[in-house]
Amino acid sequence: MTDILPSYLRDAWWAPARDDAAAIVRDASTGAEVSRVSTTGIDLAAAVAHARTVGQRSLGALTFHQRAVLLKQFAAALTARKDELYALSASAGATARDSAIDVDGGIGVLFTYSSKGRRELPNAQVLVDGPAENLSKDGSFLGRHVFTRLPGVAVQINAFNFPMWGALEKFAPAFLAGMPTLVKPATPTAYIAEAWMRILVDAGLLPAGTLQLVSGPVPGLFDVLGLGDTISFTGSAATAEGLRAQARPGVRFTSETDSINASVLGPDAVPGTPEFDAFVRQLVTELTAKAGQKCTAIRRAIVPAGLESDVAAAVSATIAERVVVGDPRGPGVTMGPLVSQEQRDDVLRQVAALKRAGGRLVVGDTDAPEVVDAEGRRGPAAAGAFVAPIVLAFDAADAAAGAAVHDIEAFGPVASLLGYRNLDEAADLVGLGGGSLVTSVATHDPQVAAALLGGIGAYNGRILFLDRDDARTSTGHGSPVPHLVHGGPGRAGGGEELGGMRAVRHYMQRTAVQGSPRMLTAVTGIWHTGADVDAGGIHPFRKPLTHLRLGDRVESGEREVTLADIETFAHFTGDTFYAHMDEDAAAANPFFPGRVAHGYLLVSWAAGLFVDPDPGPVLANYGLENLRFVTPVSPGDRIRVALTAKQITPRETDDYGEVRWDAVIRNQRDELVAEYDVLTLVAKETAPPEADELVAP
Ligand code: NAP
Repeated sequence: MTDILPSYLRDAWWAPARDDAAAIVRDASTGAEVSRVSTTGIDLAAAVAHARTVGQRSLGALTFHQRAVLLKQFAAALTARKDELYALSASAGATARDSAIDVDGGIGVLFTYSSKGRRELPNAQVLVDGPAENLSKDGSFLGRHVFTRLPGVAVQINAFNFPMWGALEKFAPAFLAGMPTLVKPATPTAYIAEAWMRILVDAGLLPAGTLQLVSGPVPGLFDVLGLGDTISFTGSAATAEGLRAQARPGVRFTSETDSINASVLGPDAVPGTPEFDAFVRQLVTELTAKAGQKCTAIRRAIVPAGLESDVAAAVSATIAERVVVGDPRGPGVTMGPLVSQEQRDDVLRQVAALKRAGGRLVVGDTDAPEVVDAEGRRGPAAAGAFVAPIVLAFDAADAAAGAAVHDIEAFGPVASLLGYRNLDEAADLVGLGGGSLVTSVATHDPQVAAALLGGIGAYNGRILFLDRDDARTSTGHGSPVPHLVHGGPGRAGGGEELGGMRAVRHYMQRTAVQGSPRMLTAVTGIWHTGADVDAGGIHPFRKPLTHLRLGDRVESGEREVTLADIETFAHFTGDTFYAHMDEDAAAANPFFPGRVAHGYLLVSWAAGLFVDPDPGPVLANYGLENLRFVTPVSPGDRIRVALTAKQITPRETDDYGEVRWDAVIRNQRDELVAEYDVLTLVAKETAPPEADELVAP
């Protein structure tokens, strides 16, 4: 008898002493017992309270960047012990390729959120959303949207198929946002979640209360959740429906559920084209990776009417050539079993239902396949949950609105083949899935792609256009990437995960903040026009990052613009555009009074006016943002510039940071000529770092 899996609660491991009713989890290939799962006697209220107090305090002491640095350290700790996770995943039926999706994919999400977090978030705790809005004539009253972290616990309830990626793709953005997490893995693979959790605990990197694991049922959990808490569910639509109804008011409930995803073969992608081959290869990959137990797997292959048999034949040939079903520990095995006997029985039940609804088997069958065992022997499976890849073809009459083929999810290596007569019909068939996580379209014709996007966009969270140009580099139909949204409308749950920093905001509250420029500067960490400035002290370029303050400013003297300067600049740069060189043509232009100075001349002069030239803490100018030329400058006009420290972002792991400066150029009539942000790298202390320590932003 195996031990009951421990849970990790309130920063310590916990397990019920003994429970004869504990669920038994078995090896997917051999049926041997792997673990037992029970939470009898668990105190979930205390776990939630711990997250809300200790966990919130831990994360509240850290900035976005400090949390991001920790995510990278978590990823490194997991990478160092990846082999253990691969070995365990094989018990759940995962081949090495399947484990790469779960294990390396999970680690990859941590790395991505670490680096994106440091590049795209401020080194602060508040995130602004959009520009400041001026709400008064004199600029003394402004409004701005800001995000602050939710004060509760982020609960995750996960599906069995990705025990690591599924948890880490939610944990990374929650942690970055500043919310502690409580993970409840699915029973059949809870032992893999316990293993990655143990690696993180052993590494000693987790701030107190920031991550807890409940290895088993969670009775009463929803009763102790309230405003400020979130529940992110991944699993079947039926379970989601029941749980959503139990969530108390104020709890943010999001779900990623099953989805009858589609893959469309474009009318141009006939046999013999690279797109046809890519479509077939991808369909076989989606049937066999994780033995089809992927929420994003292709469930409906939608092809031009008349090509069904060509597609079925090509899929059969590719499977015969490449797919070896068996124990993932066996030599040459490319497709493992389903996670459990129960899962296999469920899939076979759904295939029977699809057959009753008109499906004809055109690839594979429902008999137990011959498999390769761990020692490489081929034969009938003694105990494993094996199913061969299956494709069922449907006639048009059996694929109309409301037909079972658009509704039944056989969560295994099973797809349906449907014909379409024109693109409108193809789009309609995609939409009949009621909302999907992903649809892929194999076409090399941009018009087909554009027409289908209009028809299917609203029904999908993600669309992949597959052709000869990207087939080799594509991340594939079935792989969500951390940079892009994962989730889908309708049946797919209506949720949205990943998508870069969008996911971080799901764990934060957006609030419209109103106040004076001084107050908005204080609460956002970004200097706002009208807030206090210090223009009388030493030049701000002489101040290292640790001494620089928001509002530190340099105000320049004036410089007159002459016609000779404009001509010199024009000939020097080659920019002899008529607005600078031809008085009559310039005057005929609706925007200019006559010949005017180049905008880039003004920006270059502004740099000359505000710069402090000697070596010092300012290391480099790495760009300008939001540059706008507002009032043209004519020969004889005089310009001056004000440069104000707007945002100061020290880097956690370097001796320097970024400073954003507000630059405003005005003319002798005090009219706004140009405004923009100047981006610089500034040393934290006066002695500049060595050149080889610098990393491009
Ligand atoms: P499931 O049976 O719906 O279970 C999902 C999770 O809900 C499991 O952790 C399960 O725990 C838990 N659960 C069940 N009843 C609960 C209750 N009353 N209170 C609290 N938790 C409860 O789904 P599954 O079989 O694990 O996963 C397969 C399904 O997930 C497929 O339909 C697939 O399409 C979908 N899926 C969707 C996505 C996506 O991103 N959209 C990703 C992966 C999978 P126990 O295991 O302990 O019962």
